[in-house]
Amino acid sequence: MASEQTSLYAAQEPIFPRRVSGFFRTFKWWLMAVTLGIYYLTPWIRWDRGPSLPDQAVLIDMANRRFYFFWIEIWPHEFYFVAGLLIMAGLGLFLFTSALGRVWCGYACPQTVWTDLFILVERWVEGDRNARVRLYKAKWDIKKWRLRLTKWALWLAIAIATGGAWVFYFTDAPQLAVDLVTFSAHPIAYTTIAILALTTFVFGGFMREQVCIYMCPWPRIQGAMMDDDTLTVAYREGRGEPREKGKKRTDASGDCIDCMACVNVCPMGIDIRDGQQM
Ligand code: SF4
Repeated sequence: MASEQTSLYAAQEPIFPRRVSGFFRTFKWWLMAVTLGIYYLTPWIRWDRGPSLPDQAVLIDMANRRFYFFWIEIWPHEFYFVAGLLIMAGLGLFLFTSALGRVWCGYACPQTVWTDLFILVERWVEGDRNARVRLYKAKWDIKKWRLRLTKWALWLAIAIATGGAWVFYFTDAPQLAVDLVTFSAHPIAYTTIAILALTTFVFGGFMREQVCIYMCPWPRIQGAMMDDDTLTVAYREGRGEPREKGKKRTDASGDCIDCMACVNVCPMGIDIRDGQQM
C-alpha cells in the first residue's frame, strides 16, 4: 500500500481573466444577452386563453397540474412529450459536443453565462486584469472596501433577479411581483428566491471554475464524446514547442511565442507553463 495519499483537491487560485475582443467574444455577448433575456422576460409574456385559463404564455401551474407553453397545454398524462423533448435535447447536446467540443460549456451553460456576467460587472467596477490584480494585492483600505462592496451589491442584485425570475414561471408573474414587494407572497416564494440568489451569488461570484472542476458531472461525460476530429480549444504542444520569444527564436522554434496571452484571458485559469492544462 502506498504510504502517501495524493489529494484530489487543489485550493482555488485567484484568476483575473483579461478582456478579449473578436468574433467569438462578440458572438458570446450576443448569446448571453439572448439567453438571459429569454430567462428574465419570458414569464412576463401574456397569452390570451379565454376567461377561465391563465393568460401567462409560459406557466408551470403546479396546483392544477398543467404546463402551459404559448398555444400548447400539457397535462400530466402527456408528460411523455416533455420526456421526448428532453431526450432529443440530450442527443443534440451529444452531437454538438462530438463535432464542436465544449460549446455547451463555453457558450450556453448557466454557470458560464452567469460567471461571464459577474466578470463583466467585476471588470466594470474594478477595471481590467492589471487593475484587479493590484486591487487583490492591496491592503483593505476605504477604496478597496468601496469597490468590493459595490461589486458584491451588483452581484447580489443580479442573483436576486435570477431567483426572482425563476419563481415567476410558477404563478401569475405580475400578481406575484406585487405580493413579493408587499411581503404577502407565500414563504416558499421567498425561500426559493433566497436559495437561488445565494447559489447564483456564490457559484458565479466566488466558486466559478471550481463548480466545473469539482461539482459538475458533464466534463467527465463529454470527454468520451470527443475524438481527434472534434474542434477543441487546447494548447497543441507538438505545434507550440519549443517555445521561444524575441531574438531567441530560430527556425527550430515552435509556433508559441510565450506571450502568455492565452493564459491571461482564460477564465478557467489555464496554465501551460508546465505544458499542462489546469
Ligand atoms: S463544466 Fe459543467 S458547470 Fe462548467 S461550464 Fe461545463 S457544463 Fe457548465
